[in-house]
Amino acid sequence: MEKANIDWSNIGFGYIRTDKRFVSNFKDGAWDEGCLTSDDQVVISECAGVLQYAQTCFEGLKAYTTEDGHIVCFRPDLNADRMIDSCKRLEMPVFPKERFIKAVEDVVAANEAFVPPYGSGATLYIRPYMFGSSPVIGVKPAAEYQFRMFCTPVGPYFKGGIKPLTIRVSDFDRAAPHGTGHIKAGLNYAMSLYAIQDAHEKGFDENMYLDAATRTKVEETGGANFLFVTKDGTVVTPKSDSILPSITRRSLMYVAKEILGLKTEERPVYFDEVKDMAECGLCGTAAVISPVGKIVDHGNEICLPAGMTDMGPVTKKLYDTLTGIQMGRLEAPEGWIKVIK
Ligand SMILES: *Cc1c(COP(=O)(O)O)cnc(C)c1O
Repeated sequence: MEKANIDWSNIGFGYIRTDKRFVSNFKDGAWDEGCLTSDDQVVISECAGVLQYAQTCFEGLKAYTTEDGHIVCFRPDLNADRMIDSCKRLEMPVFPKERFIKAVEDVVAANEAFVPPYGSGATLYIRPYMFGSSPVIGVKPAAEYQFRMFCTPVGPYFKGGIKPLTIRVSDFDRAAPHGTGHIKAGLNYAMSLYAIQDAHEKGFDENMYLDAATRTKVEETGGANFLFVTKDGTVVTPKSDSILPSITRRSLMYVAKEILGLKTEERPVYFDEVKDMAECGLCGTAAVISPVGKIVDHGNEICLPAGMTDMGPVTKKLYDTLTGIQMGRLEAPEGWIKVIK
């Protein structure tokens, strides 16, 4: 298979149109059989539920070329499960798990030319999503939906080396108690755009959101979960019902405990504890882990001992182990790697 003419090491995290995407429509209470199509345009009613009341959710996962030349993706079953949870919370029909996984396989296989080669650092990002497509003007769920899945090659996240992030404690909230913070809904991102633009203008890479009710506990950033390493080497991640359950974070916690033999804790993390942490990282599909070097709380700086030039030692070990599993250099726990080709 001839690869697309792309300078793999120099693409960013942007959209590049690929050959095929999967589309299925829900009508009269059932999903049609769906198909792969070359048509990258979506045509819907001007009054579609997604356009009026933001009835939409999404997922994100990656496919890679492994060291021995296979094309694989990472735990797509968990993305399918999480999308089911998102759909239920948004009164959208569930797209069956087996069909979701089959669509991942079909989309990746149909776009093999766009799966970056091993060693390039680039990966194929897969974006499943669903939206209310039929007209809705009174506030209620749409009657018809479209499920789509496209993919786009994305460049190495740490192009030009690892740069620890500087983040700030945000005065905005990301998620309300008993709200929608735990599902992957576009609406959670829409209302975070103001805060992230404001953070960038003020020189910060990301916002650290605290729990909306008490503003004492660490939640997450706009699109990544936190991992901390305490000075005695325990890997800690915040527990909260309003955090999006990151698959990367869950996988890293497993790696920490079961493969690296580290002590792990998922528990409420008070912001007051953060100044005593040795390392801090942000986890998500895009970067696996991005190290955080500095956290600024209204002028008070917390400088993580791991510093501003590299990942801390535990963060690095976690990163190397998980990326080693994803790239086929290390043996994967049962069921983590789905071989597509
Ligand atoms: C998608 C997402 C993450 C990361 O989840 P992964 O499954 O690891 O990619 C974290 N937080 C939010 C708010 C997200 O939307």
